[in-house]
Amino acid sequence: MIAFEAYAEKRARAIADARNAHIGPLTLDKPTSNLFRHRPSDRGHRLDLRGFNHVIRVDEAARTADVEALTTYDDLVRETLRFNLMPAVVPQLKSITIGGAIAGIGIESTSFKYGFVHETVRELEVLLPGGTVAVADRENEYRDLFFGFPNSYGTLGYALRVVIELVPVKPFVRLTHRRYADPAQYFETMSQVCRDGAVDFVDGTMFDGRTFYLTTGEFVDQAEWLSDYTYLQMYYRSITERTTDYLTVHDYLWRWDTDWFWCSKHFLLHYSLMRRLWGKQRLNSTVYWSVWKRAHASRVAQLALGVLQGRQEAVIQDVEIPIEEAGRFATFFNEAIGIKPVWLCPVAARDPSVSYTLYPMDSRRLYVNFGFWDTVKSAHGDGHYNRMIEATVRELKGHKSLYSNSFYSRDEFDRLYNGLQYGMLKERYDPRGQFKGLYEKCVLKQ
Ligand SMILES: Cc1cc2nc3c(=O)[nH]c(=O)nc-3n(C[C@H](O)[C@H](O)[C@H](O)COP(=O)(O)OP(=O)(O)OC[C@H]3O[C@@H](n4cnc5c(N)ncnc54)[C@H](O)[C@@H]3O)c2cc1C
Repeated sequence: MIAFEAYAEKRARAIADARNAHIGPLTLDKPTSNLFRHRPSDRGHRLDLRGFNHVIRVDEAARTADVEALTTYDDLVRETLRFNLMPAVVPQLKSITIGGAIAGIGIESTSFKYGFVHETVRELEVLLPGGTVAVADRENEYRDLFFGFPNSYGTLGYALRVVIELVPVKPFVRLTHRRYADPAQYFETMSQVCRDGAVDFVDGTMFDGRTFYLTTGEFVDQAEWLSDYTYLQMYYRSITERTTDYLTVHDYLWRWDTDWFWCSKHFLLHYSLMRRLWGKQRLNSTVYWSVWKRAHASRVAQLALGVLQGRQEAVIQDVEIPIEEAGRFATFFNEAIGIKPVWLCPVAARDPSVSYTLYPMDSRRLYVNFGFWDTVKSAHGDGHYNRMIEATVRELKGHKSLYSNSFYSRDEFDRLYNGLQYGMLKERYDPRGQFKGLYEKCVLKQ
Protein backbone atom coordinates (compact mmCIF):
# COMPACT_ATOMS: atom_id res chain seq x y z
CA MET A 1 0.00 0.00 0.00
CA ILE A 2 1.12 3.57 -0.52
CA ALA A 3 0.25 6.88 1.14
CA PHE A 4 -2.18 9.22 -0.56
CA GLU A 5 0.68 11.77 -0.88
CA ALA A 6 2.64 9.34 -3.08
CA TYR A 7 -0.42 9.02 -5.29
CA ALA A 8 -0.83 12.82 -5.40
CA GLU A 9 2.79 13.23 -6.56
CA LYS A 10 2.31 10.77 -9.41
CA ARG A 11 -0.94 12.46 -10.34
CA ALA A 12 0.84 15.85 -10.55
CA ARG A 13 3.40 14.32 -12.94
CA ALA A 14 0.67 12.73 -15.08
CA ILE A 15 -1.17 16.04 -15.28
CA ALA A 16 2.00 17.82 -16.40
CA ASP A 17 2.63 15.09 -18.98
CA ALA A 18 -0.91 15.36 -20.37
CA ARG A 19 -0.59 19.16 -20.53
CA ASN A 20 2.58 18.85 -22.61
CA ALA A 21 0.52 17.04 -25.21
CA HIS A 22 -2.37 19.42 -24.91
CA ILE A 23 -3.47 19.31 -28.53
CA GLY A 24 -2.10 16.09 -30.06
CA PRO A 25 -3.56 12.58 -29.81
CA LEU A 26 -3.07 10.70 -26.52
CA THR A 27 -2.84 6.98 -25.79
CA LEU A 28 -2.37 4.91 -22.66
CA ASP A 29 0.91 3.16 -21.86
CA LYS A 30 0.01 0.02 -19.90
CA PRO A 31 2.08 -3.15 -19.31
CA THR A 32 -0.63 -5.82 -19.72
CA SER A 33 -3.96 -6.02 -21.48
CA ASN A 34 -6.85 -8.40 -22.04
CA LEU A 35 -7.93 -6.78 -25.25
CA PHE A 36 -8.55 -9.26 -28.07
CA ARG A 37 -8.79 -6.70 -30.77
CA HIS A 38 -5.75 -5.85 -32.80
CA ARG A 39 -4.94 -2.31 -33.65
CA PRO A 40 -1.89 -0.79 -35.28
CA SER A 41 0.53 0.73 -32.72
CA ASP A 42 -1.04 3.78 -31.24
CA ARG A 43 -0.08 7.13 -32.63
CA GLY A 44 0.55 10.23 -30.60
CA HIS A 45 1.85 10.94 -27.14
CA ARG A 46 1.86 7.92 -24.84
CA LEU A 47 0.83 8.73 -21.30
CA ASP A 48 2.83 6.51 -19.02
CA LEU A 49 0.49 5.59 -16.19
CA ARG A 50 2.18 2.30 -15.34
CA GLY A 51 3.10 3.52 -11.85
CA PHE A 52 -0.57 3.84 -10.86
CA ASN A 53 -0.70 0.28 -9.62
CA HIS A 54 -1.02 0.39 -5.86
CA VAL A 55 -3.73 0.13 -3.27
CA ILE A 56 -3.92 3.39 -1.31
CA ARG A 57 -6.27 2.44 1.51
CA VAL A 58 -8.64 -0.27 2.68
CA ASP A 59 -11.32 1.21 4.93
CA GLU A 60 -12.59 -1.70 6.99
CA ALA A 61 -15.46 0.21 8.57
CA ALA A 62 -16.77 1.70 5.33
CA ARG A 63 -15.90 -1.49 3.41
CA THR A 64 -14.24 0.36 0.59
CA ALA A 65 -10.84 0.31 -1.09
CA ASP A 66 -9.17 3.39 -2.53
CA VAL A 67 -7.07 2.05 -5.39
CA GLU A 68 -4.89 3.35 -8.20
CA ALA A 69 -6.64 2.39 -11.42
CA LEU A 70 -3.88 0.30 -13.02
CA THR A 71 -3.74 -2.01 -10.02
CA THR A 72 -4.40 -5.59 -11.06
CA TYR A 73 -7.12 -7.57 -9.33
CA ASP A 74 -4.41 -10.00 -8.26
CA ASP A 75 -2.74 -7.27 -6.20
CA LEU A 76 -6.00 -5.74 -5.02
CA VAL A 77 -7.43 -9.04 -3.79
CA ARG A 78 -4.17 -9.85 -1.99
CA GLU A 79 -4.50 -6.61 0.00
CA THR A 80 -8.22 -6.83 0.76
CA LEU A 81 -8.15 -10.47 1.88
CA ARG A 82 -5.81 -9.43 4.68
CA PHE A 83 -8.85 -7.60 6.07
CA ASN A 84 -11.22 -10.52 5.33
CA LEU A 85 -12.77 -8.44 2.59
CA MET A 86 -12.94 -8.79 -1.20
CA PRO A 87 -14.05 -6.45 -4.00
CA ALA A 88 -17.78 -7.04 -4.52
CA VAL A 89 -17.09 -8.26 -8.08
CA VAL A 90 -13.69 -9.79 -8.96
CA PRO A 91 -13.19 -10.52 -12.69
CA GLN A 92 -11.63 -13.95 -13.15
CA LEU A 93 -8.33 -13.04 -14.74
CA LYS A 94 -5.58 -11.90 -12.38
CA SER A 95 -4.11 -9.36 -14.79
CA ILE A 96 -7.33 -7.40 -15.34
CA THR A 97 -6.90 -3.97 -13.82
CA ILE A 98 -9.57 -2.13 -11.96
CA GLY A 99 -9.59 0.75 -14.47
CA GLY A 100 -9.77 -1.71 -17.39
CA ALA A 101 -12.69 -3.56 -15.81
CA ILE A 102 -14.64 -0.31 -15.52
CA ALA A 103 -13.72 1.17 -18.91
CA GLY A 104 -14.18 -2.26 -20.56
CA ILE A 105 -16.86 -3.96 -18.36
CA GLY A 106 -16.20 -6.66 -15.76
CA ILE A 107 -18.38 -9.49 -14.48
CA GLU A 108 -18.14 -12.53 -12.16
CA SER A 109 -20.17 -15.00 -10.16
CA THR A 110 -21.30 -12.34 -7.65
CA SER A 111 -22.82 -10.25 -10.48
CA PHE A 112 -26.31 -11.65 -9.91
CA LYS A 113 -26.16 -9.65 -6.63
CA TYR A 114 -23.85 -6.70 -7.32
CA GLY A 115 -24.10 -6.20 -11.08
CA PHE A 116 -21.05 -5.40 -13.22
CA VAL A 117 -17.81 -4.11 -11.68
CA HIS A 118 -18.76 -0.49 -12.45
CA GLU A 119 -21.92 -0.81 -10.34
CA THR A 120 -19.71 -1.23 -7.27
CA VAL A 121 -17.73 1.97 -7.84
CA ARG A 122 -18.23 4.85 -5.41
CA GLU A 123 -15.81 7.42 -6.84
CA LEU A 124 -13.71 7.76 -9.96
CA GLU A 125 -10.78 10.15 -10.45
CA VAL A 126 -10.22 10.68 -14.16
CA LEU A 127 -7.36 12.35 -16.04
CA LEU A 128 -8.93 14.25 -18.91
CA PRO A 129 -7.29 15.32 -22.15
CA GLY A 130 -5.66 18.72 -21.67
CA GLY A 131 -4.43 17.69 -18.24
CA THR A 132 -7.32 18.37 -15.90
CA VAL A 133 -8.63 15.92 -13.37
CA ALA A 134 -12.27 15.23 -12.49
CA VAL A 135 -13.33 13.40 -9.33
CA ALA A 136 -16.69 11.96 -10.35
CA ASP A 137 -19.39 10.38 -8.19
CA ARG A 138 -23.13 9.68 -8.47
CA GLU A 139 -24.17 13.09 -7.23
CA ASN A 140 -21.61 15.74 -8.15
CA GLU A 141 -21.10 17.95 -11.20
CA TYR A 142 -19.28 15.10 -12.97
CA ARG A 143 -22.09 12.58 -12.56
CA ASP A 144 -22.43 12.37 -16.36
CA LEU A 145 -18.81 11.17 -16.46
CA PHE A 146 -19.41 8.76 -13.57
CA PHE A 147 -22.29 7.11 -15.41
CA GLY A 148 -20.71 7.53 -18.87
CA PHE A 149 -17.26 6.11 -18.09
CA PRO A 150 -18.16 2.37 -18.09
CA ASN A 151 -17.73 0.97 -21.62
CA SER A 152 -15.92 4.13 -22.75
CA TYR A 153 -12.66 2.20 -23.41
CA GLY A 154 -10.34 5.09 -22.65
CA THR A 155 -12.05 7.46 -25.09
CA LEU A 156 -13.19 10.03 -22.51
CA GLY A 157 -10.26 10.02 -20.08
CA TYR A 158 -8.09 7.67 -18.04
CA ALA A 159 -9.09 6.58 -14.56
CA LEU A 160 -6.23 7.24 -12.13
CA ARG A 161 -7.94 6.28 -8.88
CA VAL A 162 -11.11 4.44 -7.92
CA VAL A 163 -13.02 3.95 -4.69
CA ILE A 164 -14.66 0.55 -4.85
CA GLU A 165 -16.98 -1.42 -2.57
CA LEU A 166 -15.79 -4.44 -0.62
CA VAL A 167 -17.76 -7.29 0.92
CA PRO A 168 -16.84 -9.57 3.86
CA VAL A 169 -15.54 -13.09 3.21
CA LYS A 170 -15.18 -16.32 5.17
CA PRO A 171 -12.06 -18.45 4.75
CA PHE A 172 -13.56 -21.09 2.45
CA VAL A 173 -16.09 -21.54 -0.34
CA ARG A 174 -18.19 -24.70 -0.62
CA LEU A 175 -19.07 -25.37 -4.25
CA THR A 176 -21.97 -27.40 -5.58
CA HIS A 177 -22.07 -28.48 -9.23
CA ARG A 178 -25.45 -29.64 -10.58
CA ARG A 179 -25.95 -31.13 -14.02
CA TYR A 180 -28.90 -30.44 -16.36
CA ALA A 181 -29.69 -31.78 -19.82
CA ASP A 182 -32.62 -29.51 -20.61
CA PRO A 183 -31.69 -25.86 -21.27
CA ALA A 184 -35.16 -24.60 -20.30
CA GLN A 185 -34.98 -26.30 -16.91
CA TYR A 186 -31.40 -25.17 -16.45
CA PHE A 187 -32.05 -21.46 -17.02
CA GLU A 188 -35.24 -21.61 -14.96
CA THR A 189 -33.28 -23.05 -12.04
CA MET A 190 -30.51 -20.48 -12.49
CA SER A 191 -33.12 -17.73 -12.39
CA GLN A 192 -34.71 -19.16 -9.24
CA VAL A 193 -31.38 -19.54 -7.45
CA CYS A 194 -30.47 -15.92 -8.26
CA ARG A 195 -33.84 -14.59 -7.11
CA ASP A 196 -33.68 -16.61 -3.86
CA GLY A 197 -30.29 -15.04 -3.14
CA ALA A 198 -29.42 -17.76 -0.60
CA VAL A 199 -25.95 -18.45 -2.03
CA ASP A 200 -22.92 -16.16 -2.44
CA PHE A 201 -21.77 -17.11 -5.95
CA VAL A 202 -23.52 -18.38 -9.10
CA ASP A 203 -22.04 -19.28 -12.48
CA GLY A 204 -22.29 -22.14 -14.94
CA THR A 205 -20.74 -24.02 -17.83
CA MET A 206 -22.30 -25.32 -21.04
CA PHE A 207 -20.24 -28.27 -22.22
CA ASP A 208 -22.58 -28.96 -25.15
CA GLY A 209 -26.26 -28.59 -26.07
CA ARG A 210 -27.31 -31.31 -23.58
CA THR A 211 -24.77 -30.79 -20.81
CA PHE A 212 -25.17 -27.76 -18.60
CA TYR A 213 -23.70 -27.33 -15.12
CA LEU A 214 -24.89 -24.84 -12.54
CA THR A 215 -22.25 -24.03 -9.94
CA THR A 216 -23.17 -22.29 -6.70
CA GLY A 217 -20.79 -21.23 -3.96
CA GLU A 218 -21.31 -20.44 -0.30
CA PHE A 219 -18.88 -18.96 2.18
CA VAL A 220 -18.12 -21.38 5.02
CA ASP A 221 -15.90 -21.27 8.11
CA GLN A 222 -14.82 -24.91 7.87
CA ALA A 223 -13.86 -27.03 4.88
CA GLU A 224 -14.19 -30.82 4.90
CA TRP A 225 -11.24 -30.97 2.50
CA LEU A 226 -9.45 -28.54 0.19
CA SER A 227 -8.95 -28.99 -3.53
CA ASP A 228 -6.07 -27.40 -5.39
CA TYR A 229 -6.46 -26.38 -9.05
CA THR A 230 -3.27 -24.38 -9.35
CA TYR A 231 -1.08 -27.08 -10.88
CA LEU A 232 -1.89 -30.61 -12.06
CA GLN A 233 -5.64 -30.69 -11.45
CA MET A 234 -7.91 -28.59 -13.70
CA TYR A 235 -10.86 -26.73 -12.23
CA TYR A 236 -12.98 -26.98 -15.39
CA ARG A 237 -12.67 -30.76 -15.34
CA SER A 238 -13.63 -30.95 -11.68
CA ILE A 239 -17.06 -29.50 -12.52
CA THR A 240 -18.14 -32.74 -14.19
CA GLU A 241 -16.29 -35.00 -11.75
CA ARG A 242 -17.53 -33.75 -8.37
CA THR A 243 -20.84 -32.57 -6.99
CA THR A 244 -19.35 -30.85 -3.92
CA ASP A 245 -15.98 -29.22 -3.54
CA TYR A 246 -14.08 -26.86 -1.21
CA LEU A 247 -11.59 -24.11 -2.03
CA THR A 248 -9.98 -21.31 -0.05
CA VAL A 249 -11.59 -18.01 -0.93
CA HIS A 250 -8.35 -16.98 -2.69
CA ASP A 251 -8.33 -20.12 -4.83
CA TYR A 252 -12.02 -19.75 -5.56
CA LEU A 253 -11.53 -16.22 -6.91
CA TRP A 254 -8.73 -17.38 -9.22
CA ARG A 255 -10.21 -20.79 -10.12
CA TRP A 256 -10.50 -19.80 -13.79
CA ASP A 257 -7.14 -18.07 -14.11
CA THR A 258 -4.86 -21.13 -13.93
CA ASP A 259 -6.26 -22.53 -17.18
CA TRP A 260 -7.58 -19.26 -18.68
CA PHE A 261 -10.94 -20.93 -18.22
CA TRP A 262 -10.10 -23.89 -20.53
CA CYS A 263 -8.18 -21.98 -23.21
CA SER A 264 -4.86 -23.38 -21.90
CA LYS A 265 -5.72 -26.46 -23.99
CA HIS A 266 -4.40 -24.51 -27.00
CA PHE A 267 -0.95 -24.88 -25.41
CA LEU A 268 -1.66 -28.62 -24.80
CA LEU A 269 -1.84 -27.97 -21.08
CA HIS A 270 -4.60 -30.51 -20.60
CA TYR A 271 -1.77 -33.06 -20.64
CA SER A 272 -0.09 -33.66 -17.32
CA LEU A 273 3.37 -33.89 -18.87
CA MET A 274 2.95 -30.51 -20.56
CA ARG A 275 1.84 -28.96 -17.25
CA ARG A 276 4.98 -30.26 -15.55
CA LEU A 277 7.19 -28.97 -18.38
CA TRP A 278 5.40 -25.60 -18.47
CA GLY A 279 5.78 -25.20 -14.69
CA LYS A 280 3.31 -24.21 -11.98
CA GLN A 281 4.44 -20.58 -11.87
CA ARG A 282 3.65 -20.08 -15.54
CA LEU A 283 0.14 -21.53 -15.41
CA ASN A 284 -1.70 -18.22 -15.47
CA SER A 285 -3.56 -15.92 -17.85
CA THR A 286 -0.79 -13.31 -18.03
CA VAL A 287 1.66 -15.83 -19.50
CA TYR A 288 -0.92 -17.31 -21.91
CA TRP A 289 -1.90 -13.88 -23.12
CA SER A 290 1.67 -12.82 -23.83
CA VAL A 291 2.45 -16.08 -25.69
CA TRP A 292 -0.77 -15.72 -27.69
CA LYS A 293 0.04 -12.10 -28.50
CA ARG A 294 3.54 -12.95 -29.69
CA ALA A 295 2.23 -15.80 -31.84
CA HIS A 296 -0.37 -13.50 -33.33
CA ALA A 297 2.25 -10.89 -34.16
CA SER A 298 4.49 -13.47 -35.85
CA ARG A 299 3.84 -14.01 -39.56
CA VAL A 300 5.62 -17.36 -39.44
CA ALA A 301 3.41 -18.63 -36.61
CA GLN A 302 0.32 -17.40 -38.44
CA LEU A 303 1.35 -19.15 -41.64
CA ALA A 304 2.08 -22.38 -39.78
CA LEU A 305 -1.31 -22.25 -38.06
CA GLY A 306 -3.00 -21.53 -41.39
CA VAL A 307 -1.41 -24.63 -42.93
CA LEU A 308 -2.22 -26.83 -39.91
CA GLN A 309 -5.76 -25.68 -39.22
CA GLY A 310 -7.07 -24.15 -42.45
CA ARG A 311 -9.04 -20.91 -42.58
CA GLN A 312 -10.35 -19.90 -39.17
CA GLU A 313 -12.39 -17.08 -37.72
CA ALA A 314 -11.69 -15.94 -34.17
CA VAL A 315 -14.92 -15.91 -32.18
CA ILE A 316 -13.91 -14.39 -28.85
CA GLN A 317 -16.83 -12.63 -27.22
CA ASP A 318 -18.86 -12.04 -24.08
CA VAL A 319 -22.55 -11.32 -24.61
CA GLU A 320 -25.47 -10.85 -22.21
CA ILE A 321 -28.86 -12.34 -23.07
CA PRO A 322 -32.10 -11.87 -21.06
CA ILE A 323 -32.52 -15.13 -19.15
CA GLU A 324 -35.92 -15.84 -20.73
CA GLU A 325 -34.14 -15.97 -24.12
CA ALA A 326 -30.99 -17.76 -22.92
CA GLY A 327 -32.26 -21.20 -24.02
CA ARG A 328 -32.87 -19.87 -27.53
CA PHE A 329 -29.41 -18.33 -27.64
CA ALA A 330 -27.86 -21.60 -26.42
CA THR A 331 -29.62 -23.55 -29.18
CA PHE A 332 -28.58 -21.05 -31.85
CA PHE A 333 -25.03 -21.04 -30.54
CA ASN A 334 -24.62 -24.81 -30.44
CA GLU A 335 -26.07 -25.26 -33.91
CA ALA A 336 -24.44 -22.32 -35.71
CA ILE A 337 -21.13 -21.75 -33.89
CA GLY A 338 -20.39 -24.89 -31.90
CA ILE A 339 -17.58 -23.62 -29.66
CA LYS A 340 -17.40 -25.52 -26.39
CA PRO A 341 -17.33 -25.17 -23.49
CA VAL A 342 -19.08 -21.82 -22.87
CA TRP A 343 -19.02 -19.89 -19.60
CA LEU A 344 -22.39 -18.77 -18.26
CA CYS A 345 -22.79 -16.07 -15.63
CA PRO A 346 -26.01 -14.40 -14.43
CA VAL A 347 -25.99 -10.62 -14.00
CA ALA A 348 -28.67 -8.17 -12.90
CA ALA A 349 -28.67 -4.39 -12.54
CA ARG A 350 -27.81 -3.63 -8.95
CA ASP A 351 -29.68 -0.36 -8.62
CA PRO A 352 -32.72 -0.14 -10.88
CA SER A 353 -32.94 3.62 -10.36
CA VAL A 354 -29.76 4.37 -12.33
CA SER A 355 -28.56 3.65 -15.85
CA TYR A 356 -25.03 3.57 -17.21
CA THR A 357 -25.06 5.59 -20.41
CA LEU A 358 -22.86 3.47 -22.69
CA TYR A 359 -23.92 0.04 -21.38
CA PRO A 360 -27.61 0.35 -20.58
CA MET A 361 -29.34 -2.65 -18.98
CA ASP A 362 -33.04 -3.28 -18.61
CA SER A 363 -33.13 -3.07 -14.82
CA ARG A 364 -36.13 -5.41 -14.51
CA ARG A 365 -34.34 -8.28 -16.16
CA LEU A 366 -31.86 -10.93 -15.18
CA TYR A 367 -29.32 -11.54 -17.97
CA VAL A 368 -26.95 -14.42 -18.64
CA ASN A 369 -23.44 -13.68 -19.84
CA PHE A 370 -22.23 -16.21 -22.43
CA GLY A 371 -18.42 -16.16 -22.70
CA PHE A 372 -16.77 -18.02 -25.60
CA TRP A 373 -13.19 -17.71 -26.69
CA ASP A 374 -12.02 -19.83 -29.62
CA THR A 375 -11.82 -20.05 -33.40
CA VAL A 376 -14.15 -21.78 -35.85
CA LYS A 377 -13.32 -23.21 -39.26
CA SER A 378 -14.69 -20.91 -41.91
CA ALA A 379 -15.27 -20.96 -45.65
CA HIS A 380 -16.89 -17.52 -45.46
CA GLY A 381 -15.68 -13.93 -45.51
CA ASP A 382 -14.14 -12.36 -42.42
CA GLY A 383 -16.61 -11.77 -39.60
CA HIS A 384 -19.29 -14.16 -40.86
CA TYR A 385 -19.81 -15.93 -37.51
CA ASN A 386 -19.31 -12.82 -35.40
CA ARG A 387 -21.96 -11.04 -37.47
CA MET A 388 -24.40 -13.91 -36.91
CA ILE A 389 -23.83 -13.58 -33.19
CA GLU A 390 -24.32 -9.82 -33.30
CA ALA A 391 -27.61 -10.28 -35.18
CA THR A 392 -28.89 -12.89 -32.72
CA VAL A 393 -27.89 -10.82 -29.68
CA ARG A 394 -29.76 -7.87 -31.16
CA GLU A 395 -32.83 -9.97 -31.93
CA LEU A 396 -32.92 -11.33 -28.37
CA LYS A 397 -32.42 -7.84 -26.89
CA GLY A 398 -29.02 -8.58 -25.40
CA HIS A 399 -25.69 -6.69 -25.19
CA LYS A 400 -22.23 -7.37 -26.50
CA SER A 401 -18.95 -6.39 -24.82
CA LEU A 402 -16.51 -4.48 -27.01
CA TYR A 403 -13.12 -5.89 -25.93
CA SER A 404 -12.90 -8.03 -29.07
CA ASN A 405 -13.91 -7.67 -32.73
CA SER A 406 -17.18 -5.96 -33.67
CA PHE A 407 -18.77 -5.50 -37.08
CA TYR A 408 -21.63 -3.06 -36.48
CA SER A 409 -22.45 -0.24 -38.85
CA ARG A 410 -22.06 3.18 -37.29
CA ASP A 411 -25.83 3.75 -37.12
CA GLU A 412 -26.43 0.47 -35.41
CA PHE A 413 -23.56 0.99 -33.01
CA ASP A 414 -24.91 4.41 -32.08
CA ARG A 415 -28.34 2.91 -31.42
CA LEU A 416 -26.96 0.10 -29.26
CA TYR A 417 -24.41 2.09 -27.27
CA ASN A 418 -26.23 5.40 -26.93
CA GLY A 419 -24.30 7.38 -29.55
CA LEU A 420 -26.22 10.60 -28.98
CA GLN A 421 -25.32 10.87 -25.31
CA TYR A 422 -21.80 9.66 -26.04
CA GLY A 423 -21.44 12.63 -28.42
CA MET A 424 -22.43 14.96 -25.59
CA LEU A 425 -19.91 13.39 -23.22
CA LYS A 426 -17.22 13.69 -25.88
CA GLU A 427 -18.02 17.34 -26.40
CA ARG A 428 -17.74 18.09 -22.71
CA TYR A 429 -14.69 15.97 -21.82
CA ASP A 430 -12.67 15.71 -25.05
CA PRO A 431 -13.69 18.75 -27.12
CA ARG A 432 -10.47 18.68 -29.20
CA GLY A 433 -10.81 14.98 -29.99
CA GLN A 434 -7.44 13.99 -28.50
CA PHE A 435 -8.77 10.50 -27.77
CA LYS A 436 -10.26 8.35 -30.49
CA GLY A 437 -14.01 7.83 -30.67
CA LEU A 438 -15.60 4.65 -29.32
CA TYR A 439 -16.69 3.43 -32.77
CA GLU A 440 -13.26 4.19 -34.28
CA LYS A 441 -11.53 2.30 -31.50
CA CYS A 442 -13.84 -0.67 -30.98
CA VAL A 443 -15.13 -1.36 -34.50
CA LEU A 444 -12.72 0.28 -36.95
CA LYS A 445 -9.73 -0.73 -34.76
CA GLN A 446 -8.04 2.60 -35.38
C1 LIG B 1 -10.59 -14.16 -23.08
C2 LIG B 1 -11.24 -13.10 -22.26
C3 LIG B 1 -11.99 -13.45 -21.17
C4 LIG B 1 -12.56 -12.48 -20.41
N1 LIG B 1 -13.20 -12.89 -19.32
C5 LIG B 1 -13.68 -11.98 -18.51
C6 LIG B 1 -14.29 -12.38 -17.35
O1 LIG B 1 -14.42 -13.56 -17.09
N2 LIG B 1 -14.75 -11.45 -16.49
C7 LIG B 1 -14.60 -10.15 -16.79
O2 LIG B 1 -14.99 -9.33 -15.98
N3 LIG B 1 -14.05 -9.72 -17.92
C8 LIG B 1 -13.58 -10.60 -18.78
N4 LIG B 1 -13.00 -10.18 -19.91
C9 LIG B 1 -13.07 -8.77 -20.30
C10 LIG B 1 -12.11 -7.87 -19.55
O3 LIG B 1 -12.59 -7.60 -18.25
C11 LIG B 1 -12.04 -6.53 -20.27
O4 LIG B 1 -11.46 -6.77 -21.53
C12 LIG B 1 -11.23 -5.50 -19.48
O5 LIG B 1 -11.34 -4.25 -20.14
C13 LIG B 1 -9.78 -5.89 -19.40
O6 LIG B 1 -9.09 -5.04 -18.51
P1 LIG B 1 -7.55 -4.71 -18.68
O7 LIG B 1 -7.14 -4.09 -17.40
O8 LIG B 1 -6.80 -5.88 -19.15
O9 LIG B 1 -7.64 -3.56 -19.75
P2 LIG B 1 -7.01 -3.45 -21.20
O10 LIG B 1 -7.31 -4.69 -21.97
O11 LIG B 1 -5.60 -3.03 -21.10
O12 LIG B 1 -7.84 -2.24 -21.74
C14 LIG B 1 -9.18 -2.38 -22.10
C15 LIG B 1 -9.68 -1.01 -22.57
O13 LIG B 1 -9.84 -0.17 -21.46
C16 LIG B 1 -9.04 0.99 -21.58
N5 LIG B 1 -8.48 1.23 -20.27
C17 LIG B 1 -7.64 0.43 -19.57
N6 LIG B 1 -7.33 1.00 -18.40
C18 LIG B 1 -7.99 2.18 -18.36
C19 LIG B 1 -8.07 3.24 -17.43
N7 LIG B 1 -7.39 3.23 -16.29
N8 LIG B 1 -8.88 4.31 -17.73
C20 LIG B 1 -9.54 4.37 -18.90
N9 LIG B 1 -9.49 3.40 -19.82
C21 LIG B 1 -8.72 2.32 -19.56
C22 LIG B 1 -7.96 0.67 -22.60
O14 LIG B 1 -7.58 1.84 -23.30
C23 LIG B 1 -8.70 -0.29 -23.51
O15 LIG B 1 -9.45 0.37 -24.49
C24 LIG B 1 -12.43 -11.12 -20.72
C25 LIG B 1 -11.68 -10.74 -21.82
C26 LIG B 1 -11.09 -11.72 -22.57
C27 LIG B 1 -10.28 -11.29 -23.73
